[in-house]
Amino acid sequence: MNSPQLEITIGWLYPTLMSTYGDRGNVITIERRAQWRGYNVQVLPLDQNSTAEDIKSVDVIVGGGAQDRQQEIVMRDLQGAKADAMREKIENGTPGVFTCGSPQLLGHYYEPGLGQRIDGLGILDLVSVHPGENTKRCIGNLVIEVTASRLAQDLKEMTGTTPYLVGFENHGGRTKLGKVEALGRVVYGLGNNGEDGTEGAFYQNAIATYSHGPLLPKNPFVADWLIQTALRLKYQQPITLEALDDKLAIQAREAMLKRLKVNLPATTAKV
Ligand code: GLN
Repeated sequence: MNSPQLEITIGWLYPTLMSTYGDRGNVITIERRAQWRGYNVQVLPLDQNSTAEDIKSVDVIVGGGAQDRQQEIVMRDLQGAKADAMREKIENGTPGVFTCGSPQLLGHYYEPGLGQRIDGLGILDLVSVHPGENTKRCIGNLVIEVTASRLAQDLKEMTGTTPYLVGFENHGGRTKLGKVEALGRVVYGLGNNGEDGTEGAFYQNAIATYSHGPLLPKNPFVADWLIQTALRLKYQQPITLEALDDKLAIQAREAMLKRLKVNLPATTAKV
C-alpha cells in the first residue's frame, strides 16, 4: 500500500451539464483506482459556482460530453480568468480526459447543426463542425489504436502491449485536426470525422476523444496513466502504481472485440 497521505483532486467539468452517455464513470474509475492503491481522493466539481483558483487547485481534469445547448451555457461561463486557468493547467501538463463535447470546447470553435458558432478555448488546434440536423450522427462502437507517440509509449510500458482503446461514439460534430497530434487511428468506427481515420487528439497530457463508453472502465490502464501522471507531477517523485485485478475489464474488452470481429495482433489481445 502506498503512503495514504498522498492525495489527488479530480476536477470534474460541469457535472450536471456535461456528462452524457455515462461519462461520470470516468470520474468514478479514477477515484476508485486511486483509492484502491491507498491514495486520498477529492472530487471537485468545476462549474458555474467555481473560481479560477478552484480550477488551478486540481491534479487531474475530467470533462464529459454535452448536447449543443449545454455546450453553449458552459462556454458562456468558461471565460476570462477561468478560461486562463484551464489553459494554464493544460499547458503545464495537468493530465485530463476530455470526451466528445469537451474536446470541441477545447478547440477553436464548434459549429452546431442549428444556431451560432460557439467559440472554444483554442487550447487544442482543432475545429468541429456539425454539418446540419439532417446529417447522420456518428454513432456506434469505436476501437482505436493509440498512436500519439509519447502516450502510446507510456501505455506500452505499462501494459507490455500495443495500446488499443474500446469505446462508444455518438456525435454530430465532425472534428478536423490542425497541428495537434491525433490520439489514435480508427480501427473500428468513425472517430473524428469518418474520413481521415484519425480519432481524438493528444496535447501535453490532455487526452481528447470521441469515446464514451465510458472510456476509463473499459480501458483501465488509461485511468492508471492519468493517476500516475497526476501524482508524478504533483509530488515530483517517481511513482509506480500497484497492479489491480482487471480480469472483468479484460473479459469485457475481449467480448466487445469479438463481437466487432476486430482481430488485434496476438500480443495485444489480453490488454
Ligand atoms: N454536441 C456535440 C455533437 O453532437 C457533442 C455530443 C456529445 O458530447 N455527446 O457533436
